[in-house]
Amino acid sequence: MSRTFSVSRAVVTGAARGIGFAIARRLAEDGLRVSVLDLAPEDAERAAREIGPAACGFACDVSRPEQVNAVIPRAAEAMGGLDALICNAGITRDAMLHRMTDEQWEAVIDVHLKGTFNCLRAAAPYLRADDSPGRVVCISSVSGAMGNLGQINYTAAKGGIVAMAKTAARELARFRVTVNAIRPGFIETAMTDAIPEDTRNLMIAMIPLARPGRPEDVAAAVSFLCSDDAAYMTGAVLDVNGGFYM
Ligand code: NAP
Repeated sequence: MSRTFSVSRAVVTGAARGIGFAIARRLAEDGLRVSVLDLAPEDAERAAREIGPAACGFACDVSRPEQVNAVIPRAAEAMGGLDALICNAGITRDAMLHRMTDEQWEAVIDVHLKGTFNCLRAAAPYLRADDSPGRVVCISSVSGAMGNLGQINYTAAKGGIVAMAKTAARELARFRVTVNAIRPGFIETAMTDAIPEDTRNLMIAMIPLARPGRPEDVAAAVSFLCSDDAAYMTGAVLDVNGGFYM
């Protein structure tokens, strides 16, 4: 039997490419209406066109509360409501601790940690509006669990996202809204394309399933967490990493 979904209208941040795009496309295939949020309007609109009539695109910098507060109502209006939120937008600004600048620290904290908070806060009134179920999935990272050289900003943010998801899970449970996190491992996207080849090969050699992850691997876990099959899961963290970290 195929999965059923009680939620039908999702916002996905950072969805013009990479993991976010795969998530938006998968949720549309699952039968949901989807709002693709990303920095550049043309990228968000192109991605929405590629996904099809179930999707619409909106420009939004998730680190800017005024933009998030403006775009969430527009997305909800376009979709006839909002009952699922996928916080996925992300960047890296890597540097070793002693070389990391305030700008690198703040840029990553602003997009991941503050961005996730901005979206959760703006979407919460819609998610808890009626008696129907709601779903939130926050994209963390394996790095937030195990730490990673040169990523003190990113690991702090990704660890914080898990803590934030657990608090939101407790606060929203009485409204039948579940909040879970996913920690992807090494997934092939533009973000990991930037890693030097010898480091990539070393990382892939440490993956028991012996291949890098695909954006679709993460999208499948998001689909599950948004489905009725995951109705009794909240505050949980799913590792999608090929066994890289257990
Ligand atoms: P990606 O290919 O670089 O895509 C990230 C997307 O987010 C891009 O479309 C980007 O837009 C957008 N974005 C960046 N800053 C934004 C902002 N302030 N507001 C709205 N959108 C913004 O990255 P990815 O690999 O798909 O990563 C997606 C998520 O998974 C991130 O949270 C990342 O930390 C997490 N993750 C990735 C991996 C991995 O191995 N790839 C592993 C663990 C976790 P632009 O193209 O305009 O910059």
